[in-house]
Amino acid sequence: MSAKIKENELPEGFKDIRCIICPTGCLVHVENVNGELIMEGHSCKRGEEYAREEFVAPKRILTTTMLVENGFLPLIPVRSDKPIPKEKLRDALKKIAQTVANVPIKMGDILIENVLGLEINIIASRDLIEI
Ligand code: SF4
Repeated sequence: MSAKIKENELPEGFKDIRCIICPTGCLVHVENVNGELIMEGHSCKRGEEYAREEFVAPKRILTTTMLVENGFLPLIPVRSDKPIPKEKLRDALKKIAQTVANVPIKMGDILIENVLGLEINIIASRDLIEI
């Protein structure tokens, strides 16, 4: 399968991206050719969308730990509830490192709301009780 997509601001060059949407794992070649996005190697629309996003604006779910005060454990595992743009991951990690959560915490509790104004929350990945 191949596709051509017109974009306003595309990164230069090309990337070979392994699609992780299904176990087939197609290798998708994505290239900016004179402002036109050329894609080859994907087998379906979902893979095309995944490779396009990975090339134009890659995002990741952020997983890390946060300090806890008076908790049964000193740290709690946390994650973003939506993928964060890759270029914002470092700033999001800094914000999490500067935050101390209070117990008791239930899995899914929002520990940082709207981190960096991205409309993404940092949530607890487990329960945590007091000491
Ligand atoms: S391109 Fe389609 S078939 Fe290939 S790995 Fe991605 S989702 Fe699966």
